[in-house]
Amino acid sequence: MKIVCIGRNYADHAAELGNAVPAEPLFFFKPESAVLHKDHPFAIPEWTDDCHFEVELVVRMERAAKWISEEHAGRCYTHIGLGIDFTARDVQSALKAKGKPWEKAKAFDGSAVVSRDWVPLADLGGNVQDIRFELLKNGEVVQSGHTADMLFPIDALISHVSKYSTWKTGDLLFTGTPAGVGPVKPGDRLEGRLDGRSMFTVDVR
Ligand code: ZN
Repeated sequence: MKIVCIGRNYADHAAELGNAVPAEPLFFFKPESAVLHKDHPFAIPEWTDDCHFEVELVVRMERAAKWISEEHAGRCYTHIGLGIDFTARDVQSALKAKGKPWEKAKAFDGSAVVSRDWVPLADLGGNVQDIRFELLKNGEVVQSGHTADMLFPIDALISHVSKYSTWKTGDLLFTGTPAGVGPVKPGDRLEGRLDGRSMFTVDVR
């Protein structure tokens, strides 16, 4: 299983980090070892001083796909989840400045929170580009997103990635984060909500 993450898929988030809006989807990978074990706390790595949450809608691939068109990409998934793409922002910024890959900042153990439950798309109204989600930190909403605001719709992301890397059943697509990303500190509690449903809570230590 692999995790494909999309960078800069919401204009307001690209702007908050001072990034230009991309001309095509920007993607990177997290390994399976990045998935935070269910119900485990998230431990901030000792080598970062600025670890950020990024809440993201997650799609689980239910079939393999290679060179799939955007038109047909919707056949690859039926359920929607929610996750966090934890990012060591200080490390990422240093790597970006040198033009180096981001893996150290993005692919570390525990950096991928994946909801335990998956909601049938039909229960969310059936339109993957009309879903609301949010992240609460210590009970306050810090990120609020809507999939209509994506720069590249989910089916376009699936199609684009499939030109380079074959989708396998069980692969996860993290679809990018809206504005509002920020740091975590020990003692914080994060809760993700998808269309009002509580999908996960993560304690930070
Ligand atoms: Zn992200």
